[in-house]
Amino acid sequence: MVGHVRKGRVYQSPLAATGTLRINDWFKDDLPDFLWPALVLAEQGNDSVRRFVRWQKAVHDGLTVHGESALVAESLDGRLTHLAVLAERFSDAADLVVVEATRYGLLSGRVRRALGAYPYIPAGWLAGQADLQPPELAELELIRDALLGVLKDGHLEALLKCLRTWSTVQAGTFRSDEETIDILKNYPGDISTRSAADTTVRAMWGAHKGAVLVDDPTHFDEAIKWARVFWGANSMTSRCVRKRESKGEDDVEAPKDGIEVDDRSPVDWPAGDAAAATPVPADGAHLRRLTMDLLSSFVEALETAPARLHDKERQEVISGLVARAGRDLIAVLTAPDLWCMEHGAHIVRMLVETKIYLHWMAQQDPSIYREFQEYGAGKAKLYARISDEVPAEARKAGFQEAIEEFERLSHNHDVFDHRVVDTRDTFAGGKSIRAMAEETGLLDFYRQAYSLASGVAHSEWWSVETHAMEPCLNVLHGLHLIPSLSLSFGGNVPLATSWVDQFYSLVRTALGILGTDDAAVSAAFSWLDESAEEEASESP
Ligand SMILES: [Zn+2]
Repeated sequence: MVGHVRKGRVYQSPLAATGTLRINDWFKDDLPDFLWPALVLAEQGNDSVRRFVRWQKAVHDGLTVHGESALVAESLDGRLTHLAVLAERFSDAADLVVVEATRYGLLSGRVRRALGAYPYIPAGWLAGQADLQPPELAELELIRDALLGVLKDGHLEALLKCLRTWSTVQAGTFRSDEETIDILKNYPGDISTRSAADTTVRAMWGAHKGAVLVDDPTHFDEAIKWARVFWGANSMTSRCVRKRESKGEDDVEAPKDGIEVDDRSPVDWPAGDAAAATPVPADGAHLRRLTMDLLSSFVEALETAPARLHDKERQEVISGLVARAGRDLIAVLTAPDLWCMEHGAHIVRMLVETKIYLHWMAQQDPSIYREFQEYGAGKAKLYARISDEVPAEARKAGFQEAIEEFERLSHNHDVFDHRVVDTRDTFAGGKSIRAMAEETGLLDFYRQAYSLASGVAHSEWWSVETHAMEPCLNVLHGLHLIPSLSLSFGGNVPLATSWVDQFYSLVRTALGILGTDDAAVSAAFSWLDESAEEEASESP
């Protein structure tokens, strides 16, 4: 983690380490508060923002009798929650806001119906309707267009965020440096400076919000409360849209028919081939047989060579670990659905772990093999005890046999209980697999293969996000992730081949550590050389 600031086992980027960085999600938290101007701009185009500015002036002037120019100007920044505060403060404000908004064409029937579709909306009097009406498709489409417009168009976002600036400039309460004032003078009309001004406006808006929060940490609580209602209501009025259902090619754009009010089609897996199990790929069909042959040749080599049967634990442990790895791999190779990182990570982990175990144990005193077995026997005793905690009425058929099998595997004495239970994480006194890799020069191997596969096995979020989730394309839902109903297409032959290669390397490592007689090994694996020769003679 070069270039990062370290604190214990946490690495922060230099920016994050300053402690002043706050990532705000204005789309999620603030945009609902700007719903009214966002709807108007979506319906009538960006130019309608000029009428908003005139509306600000008219309302501001109409409320001068109260003598609170600054407060009024800040309240006309486009936020619904601020309009609500204004109306609470001055009894004549709500009527004036609506009258002027109507005069400037900012409250069309569709905009009012869209606003009126939400429960608990701040300044609900803008909608001018007595009770809540569920939105029709036309309103949903307008809301969708408003959200999508802001997401896709940074200029539109800046226009909404500039409402406060315009309001305070007109009230004479705007304060800024000359450079900023200069750049905003001809905004948004001047195309040549627009993009720079957009950036300035957005930055200024964020800085202002930050400053308000310093003075009053609860200032935007109502806005956030409303945002929760807004997104929650949207989840009730339209359903999630998955990519495969959408006909649009754009990732963000929800399809026109993506918004469905009543006609909720059932959530289901894709039909036909997309739901079928992955067939065995032709170029990977030999892998299972190959692995079986490798494993049987391994066993054959061991059984035809002289063996150190006196200290049997060494050969038992090494051959046992290799056999376990081979059996797992053979099983996985029957199911091409598993030939991908999402479902095959455990195979990678198991192969890497076995290799690190073998290398590490080979460096220890030979008694380590006995300790490996005893650690396992202790665990079997522990599992027998844990199983025995289950009350009699909950025990199914075969339960007692299972406990007895664990007791057998604990290799304990019937009368003298001598079996030690070591509950540390590993057989090596709790030494981590990473430490073992480090001691055997396999750290890079561990980091590159094992830790990534572990991330998948432990459901680290990046893995869940990429494998099991997809973005909901219904922008009314605020860009959340939803469980994917598309299956990972397995059948990755290069990946499966790399497993078999890794297994072969494991077999060779084991034979090397055991010092198995060369002649026995060559004889057992002679078929490999033959098939390699055949392949060489077949290829031109
Ligand atoms: Zn959704």
